[in-house]
Amino acid sequence: MRCPVDGSQLTPHHYEAQIEVDVCPVCKGIWLDKGELEKLQEVVELDHFEAQPVLDAPGKRPPGPIDCPKCETTMTERPYGYGILVEVDLCPEGCGMWLDRGELQILERAFESARRQVEVDERGLWSSLKALLRDL
Ligand SMILES: [Zn+2]
Ligand SMILES: [Zn+2]
Repeated sequence: MRCPVDGSQLTPHHYEAQIEVDVCPVCKGIWLDKGELEKLQEVVELDHFEAQPVLDAPGKRPPGPIDCPKCETTMTERPYGYGILVEVDLCPEGCGMWLDRGELQILERAFESARRQVEVDERGLWSSLKALLRDL
């Protein structure tokens, strides 16, 4: 697959346990398949999850929509936040989502801080993300 932002070849990366994500070597954006998102949620629920430090602020990207690297449908940008707001790009065909550089780490942090609070209801970060994908 090619990066929807700059057209570079995406490189598979192992993230946490058995999750493979596709990372752009140039802009450090991350592609998450729908199935990979579910695996990521399992890792979170298994409690072996440690938030990575936010090394980089999200990269600047040219304005305007990007195309899904799988089916080339124009992706929908949705603000998503759980305390911290992140703009994620979702494929309307349900292929998955694109995260710009640093956005995954921000989401991890948001989840971690939410989990530390007493009230984490079932509309937690990952179930909300899944619901968001289902709604499209
Ligand atoms: Zn890129
Ligand atoms: Zn797609």
